[in-house]
Amino acid sequence: MEENLSLNFLEEIIEDGLNKGTYKSILTRFPPEPNGYLHIGHAKSICLNFGLAKKYGGKTNLRFDDTNPVKEDTEYVDSIQQDIRWLGFDWAAVYYASDYFEQLYEWAVVLIKKGLAYVDDQTQEEIRLGRGTVTEPGKNSPYRNRSIEENLDLFERMRKGEFEDGTKVLRAKIDMAHPNMQLRDPIMYRILHANHHRTGDKWCIYPMYDYAHGQSDSIEHITHSICTLEFDIHRPLYDWFIEQLGIFPSHQYEFARLNINYTVMSKRKLLQLVKEGYVSGWDDPRMPTICGFRRRGYTPESIRNFCEDIGVAKRDNIIDYVRLENSLRDHLNKVAPRRMAVMNPVKLVIDNYPEGQTEMLTAINNPENEADGTRQVPFSRELYIEREDFMEEAPKKFFRLSLGREVRLRYAYFVTAQSVEKDAEGNITCIHCTYDPATRGGDAPDGRKVKGTLHWVSAQHAIDAEVRMFDRLFATEAPDEAPEGKTFLDNLNPDSLQVLKNCKLEPALADAHMVVNDRGIEEPQRFQFERMGYFCTDRDSTPEHLVFNRSCSLKDTWAKISQG
Ligand code: ATP
Ligand code: MG
Repeated sequence: MEENLSLNFLEEIIEDGLNKGTYKSILTRFPPEPNGYLHIGHAKSICLNFGLAKKYGGKTNLRFDDTNPVKEDTEYVDSIQQDIRWLGFDWAAVYYASDYFEQLYEWAVVLIKKGLAYVDDQTQEEIRLGRGTVTEPGKNSPYRNRSIEENLDLFERMRKGEFEDGTKVLRAKIDMAHPNMQLRDPIMYRILHANHHRTGDKWCIYPMYDYAHGQSDSIEHITHSICTLEFDIHRPLYDWFIEQLGIFPSHQYEFARLNINYTVMSKRKLLQLVKEGYVSGWDDPRMPTICGFRRRGYTPESIRNFCEDIGVAKRDNIIDYVRLENSLRDHLNKVAPRRMAVMNPVKLVIDNYPEGQTEMLTAINNPENEADGTRQVPFSRELYIEREDFMEEAPKKFFRLSLGREVRLRYAYFVTAQSVEKDAEGNITCIHCTYDPATRGGDAPDGRKVKGTLHWVSAQHAIDAEVRMFDRLFATEAPDEAPEGKTFLDNLNPDSLQVLKNCKLEPALADAHMVVNDRGIEEPQRFQFERMGYFCTDRDSTPEHLVFNRSCSLKDTWAKISQG
């Protein structure tokens, strides 16, 4: 059979198993720890796990890996479910690793009875030292040869709460000289007198990741347990537990985690940004969290397309942030209605236009989608244009407005600047111009051309709004890399947020508001503000005080800067 080159390595593995009849259908899982909000790296894992199952007619479970009671919270459980659903995926079932605590305990007892696990009284430090190094074998614990009876008794008393935190652990009895350090009697259980967000005070011993994860996969009959590369050295241990217990043979496969430049992706660091007030919250539009991207105006499609586009790698790499933005631009270009909005307004008065007259001009909602139709935009004698679109005396290449030069006002007329008014400091307060009534709609009957087209808003009809402009949260490409004595916080970009308080919008934007999407999740309404970029309503927005976020610019401004 001809090899299908477009399959990624996971698809090859899955198809191979399906062809051989190793399994009839596949079952994957997405296993977040509910200790923070999901970020774009998790989106990659979600798209992969749910995407593969979908492609091969299988299913995906959502499993909360809640074995670490201290840092976990139901707030995170709720946000994780919302984010997965918003991305467009549905799980077959939702489970919690804590649902399996009893089964995991029973299996630990099985291992003790088989002489494959023991209670160790050494301190954490002694255990660490005893493990040896990559080049030196470890040393057997003095408690390693306890009798099965003694181990059963001690483990039961651990569960009953007879011992203090840190005084005992349960370890798998494998090989203290094993070349793979993960197999040098790894810890299975620790004592932790902590309240768990689901099991409360029922347990005071908690399973370690390595013991809980594979067994949870096996309980659910997961066929493909997909995780990131750093777990490849854990795979032999994953297999060892399943083999010794003789339970459903789930298998682990590793792929390269998603890394993106100019951002950090560890939940610990993201939590620090939130807790210490560097951002307004987990959904701050500058955050690489899924809820941050949602608030920023990203669409689920744009994130899914990005994840698809970057593919599945077996080796670590760093993806350019620009690819994520491009994915958003591609999608919004197709779906975002066009509007006119002036960010930094200056008055433009058309001296020869009748005072008190308003005419309605026809504007196209989206040239990429005829079905979006047209709208009427009011035009009058006094308008706002962008301050940056005017220069008194401009160089030749300045294709916008300047004294004596003619430009087109979008959907309206040709105008020529005649004079300016200034305040005491010399700032321009008003530009006077004349218009050519024959150019209505934007073309001159005599065929004369203009170089520039400006967006504008009728002053008397304008809606006021606040617009939040964002730049990268970090100023350096690899924010995790900080010089000695500094941290990733020193790499924050001090200018990542700029708030424009005096923006003027065309009236069609007056009722812009947050919407509830077809999955019942609140998200912004998204627009293209002509020439200015893609924008969306913020959840702080009210009819009395409209607030918009800039999602991204129209083109990749960074590429331009770096090209000089
Ligand atoms: P972090 O280090 O950011 O806290 P984590 O791996 O501890 O992340 P989990 O909640 O344990 O977070 O992750 C759930 C799933 O998402 C795991 O299967 C994990 O491998 C995957 N995942 C986490 N980060 C990434 C990433 N950057 N790229 C791809 N998958 C990821
Ligand atoms: Mg983790």
